[in-house]
Amino acid sequence: IGQFFIVPTPIGNLGDMTQRAIDTLNFVDLIAAEDTRHTGKLLQQFMIKTPMMALHDHNEQQKASVLIGQLKQGVNVALVSDAGTPLINDPGYHIVKQCHEEGIRVVPLPGACAAITALSGAGLPSDKFCYEGFLPAKSKARQSALLEVSEESRTLIYYESPHRILETLEDMQAIFGAERYIVIARELTKIWETIHGAPVCELLAWIKADANRQRGEFVVLVDGAKKNDTAQDSIFSKEVLRTLNLLMKELP
Ligand code: SAM
Repeated sequence: IGQFFIVPTPIGNLGDMTQRAIDTLNFVDLIAAEDTRHTGKLLQQFMIKTPMMALHDHNEQQKASVLIGQLKQGVNVALVSDAGTPLINDPGYHIVKQCHEEGIRVVPLPGACAAITALSGAGLPSDKFCYEGFLPAKSKARQSALLEVSEESRTLIYYESPHRILETLEDMQAIFGAERYIVIARELTKIWETIHGAPVCELLAWIKADANRQRGEFVVLVDGAKKNDTAQDSIFSKEVLRTLNLLMKELP
């Protein structure tokens, strides 16, 4: 019976490919890749000649049974995504779940992940954090999602695309308040890597001041809510937030 390897790849800097990732991609019989063209370039860099198959969000459930069948016949398979750790806002969950159900060994390799890289360099509390992935694309749904975590005391970690970074920061200012401290980690491990933190009102002014600051890939980290409200205040605000959230879901 084959094994299913989860192999992280660099998020921008090829030097972050681990020796074990290279060895594993050479060792397996088949690489399941989110985008075979993209991964093809990476394999070329490291002179890896293992065959690939496409496994993306749209065909994962359908391809899962094929892969499980191959694994059962002794084929060793590695999963890679375009960048970073598979399954972290990338395909793989359905297959990993099925592997466990079918008694197939899953071997996850440690490696690059934008969320963890950002957290380690952000200067925000890192002992407890919530990984929230991408916020909804539409403003109303996004505000509603932010309202749900507005009292969360742990550090919040979001992924965001360059064309929504301004809107998202505006919504965070509206929901969390102008003074909430936010850090953006942009283009991690790349030439234009920037880590900048400030109260969200100042951060918005800073990012608007130069269009280059709105380019590239972003991790947005939000300092947790502080518990210095009086008990009465916080009960009151919780009630207001709950009502607001219900209203926002009902309104057209
Ligand atoms: N699986 C990946 C990981 O482990 O980080 C994440 C994949 S997700 C589809 C892509 C998002 O991750 C981007 O939109 C961005 O928010 C974030 N990201 C990826 N690479 C990044 C980088 N070099 N700097 C900052 N954020 C990055």
